[in-house]
Amino acid sequence: MDRALRMAALGRGLTSPNPLVGAVVISPSGAVVGSGYHRRAGEPHAEVYALRAAGPAARGATLFSTLEPCCHTGRTGPCVDRIVEAGIARVVIGVEDPNPQVHGKGIQFLREHGIAVTVGVREAEAARLNLPFFIRVRYGRPFVMMKVALTRDECVAETLGVRSNITAEQATSDVHALRAEFDAVGVGSGTMLIDDPELTVRASPQTRPLTRVIFDSRLRVPCSAAM
Ligand SMILES: [Zn+2]
Repeated sequence: MDRALRMAALGRGLTSPNPLVGAVVISPSGAVVGSGYHRRAGEPHAEVYALRAAGPAARGATLFSTLEPCCHTGRTGPCVDRIVEAGIARVVIGVEDPNPQVHGKGIQFLREHGIAVTVGVREAEAARLNLPFFIRVRYGRPFVMMKVALTRDECVAETLGVRSNITAEQATSDVHALRAEFDAVGVGSGTMLIDDPELTVRASPQTRPLTRVIFDSRLRVPCSAAM
């Protein structure tokens, strides 16, 4: 499961609105015969990549998946059908899918087809990996992270209303890496007027466009803003 979690993390920032998922197929003798991860919405799920890699070696093998395999037809077919067809004997799941279309139904389908299912291995890690996805599906609201740059004496600038660079290079690159995991970035109009940021993701392989949001109830931001 640790390996499946590491595989899942390779899709970080690329799979939205889908969750990060990793899968590994282990032969009865304990050898890794296939692995894969979900790369992008609309592309095959992790289990499909892992089963394809395993080929005939999937027969009688154990499939580890960080998230409950799907049983609904979205843009790709249900994974549970592929798992049954491949002849997998046992499925080990990190965490149940909170999506009501799947929740528990994927597990039930597998059991009804004679597959042994274990749920809740590395459950906390598997859920944490997809915290934004879980919050959106369970509570119907986006996952929001607030980022504030502060000086050691807890100020946001050297002089009020004047742009001052208080963030070190490492923190700036960390912020860009974080942004790459999100769908949108937002700032208030005050930040726009003083800092004039571009709100882009730099130094990241992200290919999805980042939605940029300005909270500007008084329409103060000019059209000439860098963004
Ligand atoms: Zn699936």
